[in-house]
Amino acid sequence: MRIARFSTGDGVAFGVVEEGEQVIARIDGHPFGGVQLTGERYPLAEVRVVAPMLPSKVIAIGRNYADHAREMGAEPPDEPVLFLKPSTSVIGPGESIAYPEKLSRHVDYEGELAVVIGRLCREVPAERANDVIFGYTCANDVTARDLQSKDGQWARAKGFDTFCPLGPWIETSLDAGDLALTTTVNGELKQSGRTSWLLHDIPALIAHVSAVMTLLPGDVILTGTPAGVGPLAVGDEVSVGIEGIGTLTNRVISRD
Ligand code: ZN
Repeated sequence: MRIARFSTGDGVAFGVVEEGEQVIARIDGHPFGGVQLTGERYPLAEVRVVAPMLPSKVIAIGRNYADHAREMGAEPPDEPVLFLKPSTSVIGPGESIAYPEKLSRHVDYEGELAVVIGRLCREVPAERANDVIFGYTCANDVTARDLQSKDGQWARAKGFDTFCPLGPWIETSLDAGDLALTTTVNGELKQSGRTSWLLHDIPALIAHVSAVMTLLPGDVILTGTPAGVGPLAVGDEVSVGIEGIGTLTNRVISRD
């Protein structure tokens, strides 16, 4: 099932994307814990699809592909490296990434598989991780690379408004163990990886994160980016595509 969030002009609702992505069927309330349709259906082209959830937090994993760790001049870590992106960094498909030109001169894309949590949980053993996964979506972990190295920690570099595009929707029926992931900028292929290359797999990440903090329905874990990260410029169009999910496309505009 594909779950999106959408606006018809008078409020935002969850919906199920149906009929070859032509129609969206409105859900009563939220989809966590069971989907109930209201019977209202809209042509997908006539609604505005927004970020597929409003997470209480986005937990991201650094250096979780060996080839990306090495391109950053680091060895792959023994344990997952965690950092947080604020909920205010989240935008949806088609929304613009605002380049903070007064503060950064080097903003990179990072295409990633995002895991969406479906229920409140903590201390989840890896073998029960599937019980707490609601689904998967595409993410772009936009990063001000110059501030990342300057600050020595990553809150500012990863935390700007609009620096966490998510979408276009959540795919709930998917085996995410070996999916192709690509990132393109203005149609040119920049990153190409497979989720089977993750150093720490999704169950291990959920166990590791939930040992530290309680996860809430709608929380998002970004699983890391493969090699090929590179800079964005104002005017670029960046797309993250994942097999079995879809493509998340955002344009870069100037914030200042
Ligand atoms: Zn990342």
